[in-house]
Amino acid sequence: MIANISASSLCKAIFVAGFAAGVLIRGISVAPVRKHRRTNREKIVVNPKVPMEWLSMSFMSLGLIFIPLAYLLSNWLDFADYTLPGRTGFIAAPLGAAFFAAALWMLRRSHVDLGRNWSQRLEIREEHMLVTHGVFSRIRHPMYAAHLFWAIAQMLLLHNWIAGFVFPAALLPMFLMRIPREERMMIKFFGNEYRSYMKRTGRFIPRLRR
Ligand code: SAH
Repeated sequence: MIANISASSLCKAIFVAGFAAGVLIRGISVAPVRKHRRTNREKIVVNPKVPMEWLSMSFMSLGLIFIPLAYLLSNWLDFADYTLPGRTGFIAAPLGAAFFAAALWMLRRSHVDLGRNWSQRLEIREEHMLVTHGVFSRIRHPMYAAHLFWAIAQMLLLHNWIAGFVFPAALLPMFLMRIPREERMMIKFFGNEYRSYMKRTGRFIPRLRR
């Protein structure tokens, strides 16, 4: 019993540290891009519509930010808590920490490599350049992969049926709706350059033979 309680608190503490680091990384990565956009007024040249984007983005923000925070700062969701059997909590802690570390590393690397080509919504801007170096040389969606690792860490570290599972549940529809449209947009704009980039890379898992 005591082992389980402390394992769950350990998991929560790891989650809080990872969450804070993630917010910091996102903030320092996005700030220079936003500043550049405010001063340069780069025009958007392509911005395909994603059906019900507001709904999937709201669901994402709930799963990524608001529900975990509500869970950590109040007791509203405690009715959905569960206890991992035996000492599995002590396995979940290092595993969750490893997934969180991978998520944070991938988030920062993908922001650095993508630079000013990053955008929250799907769009191509006037000065857009195709990025194929760094983490993008192996996979096409390292930032979404970072979200996936974060979601797995959240599942492993928050032992609550709602707070732990809401983010992975929000990611799936977002990925299904967005990724094919994003790739179609990139093909339309960059043509064969993107097509040949696709042949060398996987969406989330690097290709073995390139
Ligand atoms: N899907 C990528 C990028 C997410 S940010 C990832 O997971 O890392 C979304 C924006 O990135 C899109 O609007 C698109 O304009 C841009 N983008 C995606 N792949 C890109 C690439 N290889 N080079 C340049 N811009 C890219």
